[in-house]
Amino acid sequence: MQRVAMVSMHTSPLDQPGTGDAGGLNVYVLELSRRLADAGIEVDLFTRRTSPSAPSSVDYADGITIRHLEAGPVRPVAKEALAELVPAFAAALAQTDDRAYDLIHSHYWLSGRASLMASRRWDAPLVHSMHTTARMKNLTLAVGDRAEPRSRVLGEEFIAANADLLIANTDAEASHLISAYGADSDRVTVVHPGVNLSTFRPDVTARAALGLNADAIVLAFVGRLQPLKAPDVLLRAVAVMLARNPSLRPRLVVPIIGGPSGAGPDVSLPGLVRELGIGDVVRLLPPLAHAELARWYAASTLVAVPSYSETFGLVALEAQAAGTPVVAAAVGGLRTAVREGISGLLVDGHSAEAWASALTRGIAQRERLAVGTRPHAAAFSWEATAARMIGAYECVTSASLIDEEMTA
Ligand code: UDP
Repeated sequence: MQRVAMVSMHTSPLDQPGTGDAGGLNVYVLELSRRLADAGIEVDLFTRRTSPSAPSSVDYADGITIRHLEAGPVRPVAKEALAELVPAFAAALAQTDDRAYDLIHSHYWLSGRASLMASRRWDAPLVHSMHTTARMKNLTLAVGDRAEPRSRVLGEEFIAANADLLIANTDAEASHLISAYGADSDRVTVVHPGVNLSTFRPDVTARAALGLNADAIVLAFVGRLQPLKAPDVLLRAVAVMLARNPSLRPRLVVPIIGGPSGAGPDVSLPGLVRELGIGDVVRLLPPLAHAELARWYAASTLVAVPSYSETFGLVALEAQAAGTPVVAAAVGGLRTAVREGISGLLVDGHSAEAWASALTRGIAQRERLAVGTRPHAAAFSWEATAARMIGAYECVTSASLIDEEMTA
């Protein structure tokens, strides 16, 4: 294994995660690429050119080159409109044959569709990570969220039938790919994502650095602001907590960290904060780089992840790596990312009352739950992710060599 083409058509790894289309996938692609490069594998990372100032290729780090492909207008295009640009991106990718790749690893369905042509032309196996699927999202739609189109479902079915290997984040995602997409179980492998344990770690100086009082109760939300992530659930729960126990008010701080994504949240968050009368405790903060985010995690009493659907939930792992328990919705990968009762609490449903009760329990059990956080997060390093991924890559390349020999 010497050279891998990593494909992320719809979002550049250089984009700031936590807003727009940039989130966990961007972090995943870069962290995995870094660890592959550390293991001596060269990575070319292909994405769509969205700015006239973006050069055709950027040396990102030792062993990692980011390559911008011309496909459609040289400006950002809404994710929903990108499907139309898949053929142009696929053609541009397949024509990039100045280097030989041992394998292509595509991320999200648009990249999977776009990579199939190159996979055939280069005779390089295709490994695909869905990250999210339309069928899963449509099963658990948030209020005000739009259903994913049939064209995406068909695209994902096509990838499931044609990729040499699908990477699932969890056993639950693997079962979903097999049962809902008809993927062949021999061609699905589970590789857990990771967390950067040096960036995200406990930090007793974090509160002082952020100007927070030592006795503050900090309940944080981190992520893209959209209906699926449900930041409004935390806000409504905070209003219920304050109604139940007004004495919390002077100590409560609720940072909401991230920027709008897709059509944005279905309610205006500043409007909701005003309507709920909690403007004095809520702080709406812009998307933050990991170094600064790490401080907020470490300074928080609890991090809330109220999503309606989550394939994994890197935010939950990052918070736990920083020593902070997580109160998360009992959905999808969050059931793996959080150890119920050990490193956090899982909540059924999204009612403000249930969330207020869970957060109140979380505050009361904070010290005990904190003990379980770092050991749980430590089981998910990016080094372990990369080691498993290299194993999966090797299996798929040797299987395709055997196929070639048998057909020769
Ligand atoms: N993130 C960030 N800055 C922010 C908000 C989020 O860097 O202000 C990052 C966060 O650290 C995490 C990613 O965005 O690595 C979100 O990943 P997750 O799996 O939680 O959600 P996704 O965006 O993939 O749905």
